[in-house]
Amino acid sequence: MPHPVLRFAPSPTGRIHIGNARTALLNYLYAKKHHGEFILRFDDTDLERSKEEYAQAIEVDLAWLGIKPDLITRQSQRFALYHRAAERLRDCGRLYPCYESAAELERKRKRQQARGLPPVYDRASLDLTDEDKARYEAEGRKPHWRFKLDWKVVRWSDLVRGESHYDCSSLSDPVLLREDGTYLYTLPSVVDDMDMKVSLIIRGEDHVTNTAVQIQLLETLAGETGRDAVPAFAHHNLLSSIDGEGLSKRTGALSIGGLRDQGIESLAVAAAAVLIGTSVALHPVASLDDLVSSLDLGLISRTPTRFDPAELEGLSARTLHGLAFEAVRERLAAHDIAGRKANPFWLAVRGNLVVFLDVVEWWRVVDGDLAVAPHEDLDPDFLRAALESLPDEPWDETTWAAWTKSLKETTGRKGRALFHPLRLALTGKEKGPELAALLPLIGRIKAAARLSGHRA
Ligand code: GLU
Repeated sequence: MPHPVLRFAPSPTGRIHIGNARTALLNYLYAKKHHGEFILRFDDTDLERSKEEYAQAIEVDLAWLGIKPDLITRQSQRFALYHRAAERLRDCGRLYPCYESAAELERKRKRQQARGLPPVYDRASLDLTDEDKARYEAEGRKPHWRFKLDWKVVRWSDLVRGESHYDCSSLSDPVLLREDGTYLYTLPSVVDDMDMKVSLIIRGEDHVTNTAVQIQLLETLAGETGRDAVPAFAHHNLLSSIDGEGLSKRTGALSIGGLRDQGIESLAVAAAAVLIGTSVALHPVASLDDLVSSLDLGLISRTPTRFDPAELEGLSARTLHGLAFEAVRERLAAHDIAGRKANPFWLAVRGNLVVFLDVVEWWRVVDGDLAVAPHEDLDPDFLRAALESLPDEPWDETTWAAWTKSLKETTGRKGRALFHPLRLALTGKEKGPELAALLPLIGRIKAAARLSGHRA
């Protein structure tokens, strides 16, 4: 496929969650891998439920994940195209008006069910005469419009599910336009996919039925050459909550914004979104490019996958532990962690971080003021001995070993009795990064003051 065109098409009706991120990332990374184009398209034809604030939040969330769309577009600005497509479908007899009310349709469905029949629309409106229609209109009824399906089996080769087919004779003719003239998702989506020359649609397997309908619609709109205009499809498995519940934009569960507020690393969210439910083991990545190389639609499992937030927390910490200084330089600077010490500081503390914000406290330990609380292990005689044997500067990573070796000899202490009070006095903490790395960052002035029990 030369230069594929992919798209992520969320409706801006809520905050995107990890399952949406899976769809977005699979499309984006595929485009990246194959030097294609990635479009962010807001499916906002439902003007009532779509909200500008959600569209903006989705852009923020995608940017946070590292997704940079080549184009951002909105369906609400493209109605003229949909009107034209609807006209063409009417002209060729594939879009027909229906006057049943919701209550009438419900009664039909009940009757079908009672007789053991599938609840498929009976196409009664196809038989309406012009007089019938005029009578309904005179009663003030407005039609909704259905696409007349071909009752045939639609086939496609799915990049995840393999050869796939769907028998459209088991489906109701889909409603494309509501009574109030607004579009349901189907027609605008097909029109845009054609117009934007989308060549591969990667989306959740909850869309398999839509795919069959959309292929028919595409072929109808594209006319004789229809088949060439049909994009390829890949339906990925869905992520559910740990209790097996579906994720929804409306509930806010496992939302990307929520995970960000919890301090989860974006690269961990991306790795989890892409790798969970595939045959590639979940592992930390250093960049989205790393994920590009493990991307293979054929490795996505066919069964739904439960998403465990606890697993994500662990992955997030492991992601931090492997990040190079360059990858976090700006984030550190945003917390005033900059200058000569910033790089060695990062390398010293990253392995102890659970969330990135933990750096603030460790920076205070090496660069800020610390008043160490009294502790039974802080024996004044030992601290005095420690102060007296504190080497002269310059200090480096070998200073700690030299200092504690001589202290061991002069005090006879070893192991925890030697190291624990020093850690407590110098950092105010029971545990933390290697003191060999921290000590030169703390520096002699602060170290001496802290060993003397002063705030420093
Ligand atoms: N707006 C649809 C959704 O959010 C897009 C589905 C598609 O990719 O076509 O489910």
